[in-house]
Parts: sequence; structure tokens; C-alpha cells
Amino acid sequence: MFGTSKICSIEPSITKSWSKRIFITFDLDWAHDEVISDTINLIAESGVSSTWFITHESPVLDKLRKLKDAELGIHPNFYSTSKGIQNEEERVDELLGIVPEAKSVRSHCLFHSERLVDIFYKKGLTHISNSFIPHSSGMKSQPFSIWDSMIMVPHCWQDNVSFKMNLPFPQKSDLLESFHVFNFHPIHIFLNTENISRYELSRPYHQTPERLIEKRFSGSGTRTLLIKLLDILKAEAEYLPNESIQ
Ligand SMILES: [Zn+2]
Repeated sequence: MFGTSKICSIEPSITKSWSKRIFITFDLDWAHDEVISDTINLIAESGVSSTWFITHESPVLDKLRKLKDAELGIHPNFYSTSKGIQNEEERVDELLGIVPEAKSVRSHCLFHSERLVDIFYKKGLTHISNSFIPHSSGMKSQPFSIWDSMIMVPHCWQDNVSFKMNLPFPQKSDLLESFHVFNFHPIHIFLNTENISRYELSRPYHQTPERLIEKRFSGSGTRTLLIKLLDILKAEAEYLPNESIQ
């Protein structure tokens, strides 16, 4: 049996804090409030634990803070198309000003470096989710610590990368093994994206949800995969009630 938990609850030396656990995470990527709310509603209905990597100030943060067993982390963008790499410390400070409670971080585009680890540590962050180890690689990943006791949390599936790699989605039988961190984006859940061209062609409507919804895919896509996963977890929760890790 397996249950859900939050990234900040992971302690590598305490196996039950991650083994046979599912971590559902979201990178907000400056999505429209209604697009983010759409994902929040799916998670609220399912009752699972979740981790949200925040990119900007928004009224939806209040909604997220009220969501049952939800963690707010930060999702800094260290790139600028005109200026190259941004001042990393300033970007982290900016987001911690919006989410002072954050303990977990995932960089936009998974940007990572030794120097960044030092900055994250200095700013009081404890968990870093910047390593993608595809489920399809067959490697059994698990969380681990590096210097300054910083905890690295690899994820095994990521929606936008799955389009590039034609990645299979872990099946229910896979979830019984090891641990799984899923990385979703609300825009791909809203669009039910199945390939990157749907996302690119819908760009003009990303900030107008009433038009964007017309672009939602009706077949099997990111939204249907998330709903399928949540249905599995809901069914499982009936056997494993409220076993959250403190
Ligand atoms: Zn991002």
C-alpha cells in the first residue's frame, strides 16, 4: 500500500518518510489564476497531499494555504532572455518574500549548480527537487542528502518532458515500489496537453482561460493522467487513512 506526502516531509534516513509514497508536485510557471484554481480543485476533491512551487504573487496563494496538507515551495527563474543568468540570490529573496514559509525549491527549467545549493541553504531552504530521473530509465531513485544536510529529491515523471521523450506514465503496480515524485504544470492540466504543439499553438490564450478551454484536448493527455492517478490514490486512501508523516 502507498500514500501521498509533501516534499518537505522527506528525511532520507527515515525510510517511511518516502518509501512507497507518492509526491504530487506542481510548477506554477506564472499561470493564470483560473488555470491554477482548476488544478487546485482537482487536488481538493481528491484529498491527497501536494507540493506547489510558486512563481509569483497571486490571490490563489491564499487558496493553496487553505488546501488540506499542501506545501508551498518556490520556483525561481534564474534566466532572462535579455540578460542571461540573473542574480540568483535576488531571485530567491524575491520569492521568499512571497512565500516565507517555503522549505522546498525547484528551479524553473531545473537550473542547478553548487553555488545555488549554498544560496538555498543560506536562505533556510532544505529540500531541492532539481533532478529528473525518468521512470522509464529503470533506475530506482530515492532522496539523498548532500553537503549542509541539503536533501535532494529526484522526480521520475514530468509532463512537458514526457512530450519530448514519449515517456510512459507509471502504472499502479509501479507505485507499490520505491517512491515517486510527479511534476505537473497547471497549464498542461488545464489544456490536457498531449504534445508540445498544442501548448505552443495555445500561447495567445494562456491568460484568457475562457478562450483557452476551447483548446483543451478531448483524448488522453496530462489532465486525464493526473485524474487517473488521483483516482488510484483516492481508492488507496480508503485503506490507508490519514497516515501523514510529521
Ligand atoms: Zn518552471
